[in-house]
Amino acid sequence: MTDCIFCKIISGSIPAEILYENDKALAVLDINPIHYGHALILPKQHCTDFLSLPEESYQSVLQAAKVVTQALVDSLKLEGFNLFSNNGTIAGQSVFHFHLHITPRYRDDDIRFVLNLQKYSDGDLKRYGTMIRKFINPSAL
Ligand code: AMP
Ligand code: ZN
Repeated sequence: MTDCIFCKIISGSIPAEILYENDKALAVLDINPIHYGHALILPKQHCTDFLSLPEESYQSVLQAAKVVTQALVDSLKLEGFNLFSNNGTIAGQSVFHFHLHITPRYRDDDIRFVLNLQKYSDGDLKRYGTMIRKFINPSAL
């Protein structure tokens, strides 16, 4: 994809602070970090979101995520981290090349996902389980 900023990083046409790469994934520092060390894991093959990530990239993407997370934990002496991915504009995705964020967390860093947690009303937990299970289809990936 010629107009994709992450494809440009992967091809080397724009610079990035590369932390690690394997055959199908690249890890870089995010230029606008939540905390210093905030890393991004990019599949080398362009795909817009998690659902379009090709199956042959799963292992490399997760391997890179674990290698880099371990390095963040060891180098920055982290007690915790967040691993997340925004998918779709409504979920906060701004670069439409799938990526995982790995960000250090610190005690009292005052970062919060503002959640308005609900409770299932009677029968709804089972109803939702039943409805979603009807669509579980591993062979459609
Ligand atoms: P998202 O909003 O989940 O799509 O995340 C995109 C992330 O990419 C943001 O956190 C940006 O700071 C980061 N980003 C955008 N351009 C670059 C770049 N050239 N190098 C590194 N990170 C970038
Ligand atoms: Zn791309």
